[in-house]
Amino acid sequence: MSEIHKFLFEGLPVRGVLVRLGGAWTEILRRRAANSATGSYPLPVQNMLGEMVAAATLMQSNIKFNGSLILQVLGDGPVKLAVVEVQADFGLRATATVTGDVPLEASLSQMINVNNQGKCAITLDPQTRFPGQQPYQGVVPLVGDAREKLEKFSDVLEHYMLQSEQLDTTLVLAADDKVATGLLIQRLPLEGVGNLAGSRVSLAHEDEIGSNEHYKRIALLASTLKREELLTLDADTILRRLFWEEKLLRFAPLAGDSAPHFSCTCSRERVSRMILGLGADEAQSIISERGEIEVGCDFCGAHYRFDPIDVARLFRVPGDLPPSSETVQ
Ligand SMILES: [Zn+2]
Repeated sequence: MSEIHKFLFEGLPVRGVLVRLGGAWTEILRRRAANSATGSYPLPVQNMLGEMVAAATLMQSNIKFNGSLILQVLGDGPVKLAVVEVQADFGLRATATVTGDVPLEASLSQMINVNNQGKCAITLDPQTRFPGQQPYQGVVPLVGDAREKLEKFSDVLEHYMLQSEQLDTTLVLAADDKVATGLLIQRLPLEGVGNLAGSRVSLAHEDEIGSNEHYKRIALLASTLKREELLTLDADTILRRLFWEEKLLRFAPLAGDSAPHFSCTCSRERVSRMILGLGADEAQSIISERGEIEVGCDFCGAHYRFDPIDVARLFRVPGDLPPSSETVQ
């Protein structure tokens, strides 16, 4: 079971989200294990990718945005790339490229930031783009203010939220082979932004409560949450244990039909466009070398095969086709 729980702290400029991904996460692992070219992820990579999947789902559920959120790590260690993509309807997919040995006890920096060249990028790609419009992207290094290597993925994202969004955020993330889960606590922007209940936190009220003491208190409570608790306890138990002294306003969870779920956006049409992008000469040279063009999807394991006739059709000028032929755009 996979679900998202959103909540507000009544009268305070603080909101939170708890995400628990069961089937949505294990489907990603199942497909990876079934991929004979790669096999399963090494344990530390599995847990890192799970934390990234939970984090990307938390971020997608925390913004009003109709499009896909892509969380990427470009690593300089044995993990070259890790990508998570969460659509607006919480269809999600993820993959990681592992090129070297990853020891069982590998730390985050040993996987993706050996020489401090690792980066984390967050991209918001709107569903409909104006011509020429680029997706929004923010990039942060995997080191802290004093160039120290960050060893928790949550630290990387807290840093990102503070730097590029000017938002105080506390994240607790955890993953194993059954669950990818996380808790996000965020201080609401001072003015103008309605909170999740649709009410507004006014400046006057903000002045009244003074500094961000409420956020600090709640963030401190959240940070006491242990990995083991996050992995094994249900949402109700976690929220009750952490915030029993706070007034929580909870929303109906996103579960069942609206729950996060595995979904891959690859298609034969997209692969066709990619082959067209190679150009006719390059495509022909692959055909003469291998007899066909085969493209595998790293996210879901699907294979797309294009034989010489398929490729010839792709590059044919549309007007050349006899009316009865199959047209591929
Ligand atoms: Zn796919």
